[in-house]
Amino acid sequence: MSVPFSTPKDFALAYAERGWPVFPVYSVQKAVNEFVCACRNGAACQAPGKHPVWRLAPQGLKNASSDLAVVRAMFGGFGLKNNVAIATGSTSGIVVLDIDARHGGFEALAALEAKHGALPETLRFLTGGGGKHFVFQHPGGNIPNSAGKIGTGIDVRGDGGYIVAPPSRHVSGGTYKLDEGCSLDMSLAAAPAWLLGLMRQGGGNNGSLANKTAIAELARGQIPGGQRNTSITRLSGHLLAKRVASNVVLDLMLAFNDARCTPPLSAGEVARIVASIDHLSFTKLINRT
Ligand SMILES: [Zn+2]
Repeated sequence: MSVPFSTPKDFALAYAERGWPVFPVYSVQKAVNEFVCACRNGAACQAPGKHPVWRLAPQGLKNASSDLAVVRAMFGGFGLKNNVAIATGSTSGIVVLDIDARHGGFEALAALEAKHGALPETLRFLTGGGGKHFVFQHPGGNIPNSAGKIGTGIDVRGDGGYIVAPPSRHVSGGTYKLDEGCSLDMSLAAAPAWLLGLMRQGGGNNGSLANKTAIAELARGQIPGGQRNTSITRLSGHLLAKRVASNVVLDLMLAFNDARCTPPLSAGEVARIVASIDHLSFTKLINRT
């Protein structure tokens, strides 16, 4: 680890060498006055810089690998500028506390530490958006993913989850980095017992109340021309995240498109939106339906 490295491929290989499976997610690119997702949805993307590159990881997290040859292939060539995601949970042996600065995560963490004691020294990543990832050893058993459950602005990335990691670019324009005093080969601390207790209780909350309300409103109203793509993207993303099969999501979105979008998009455009979120190739989805 003494050789300086900086590219997504270098970092991806370093993570893989620790036995952490990685896969490419879309980066962000400069639009006129802002950064937008490098995927085809651009500014309409609901997870800019954070979702799998379907050409390279068609099954997303399932394609995560720590096989160095596979990682070299995923991050070489066309993958050169993609963001790097690390699979969390028992597959990698890590759990991550994800602190979101914009939603008061640092204040909530300070309150937890005041009550229970400070977090131990461990690997930390600074997210490009002002947040921080604390990487801990996986304790065994099941650690569910959760959002805002153990504290406002605090998410847990455990089994079946992933994090975006250095040297990825954040939609704010910033870059994910190692926190001061951290190195990629440093050993990980075990999460303290109080934190594990909170993490284990955290299952079943993968979306905020605000998000659920927005989805419910979306499903009711009429969708004007400028919002059709975004609305179908959000609704299908919501359903796919709930593990509804992609051919069912496509059928639902085609019906939604006809009933609510004025005027409706073409069926092909709806299929392309669903396919781009499901990280499956367009052809593959069409062949399945
Ligand atoms: Zn995107």
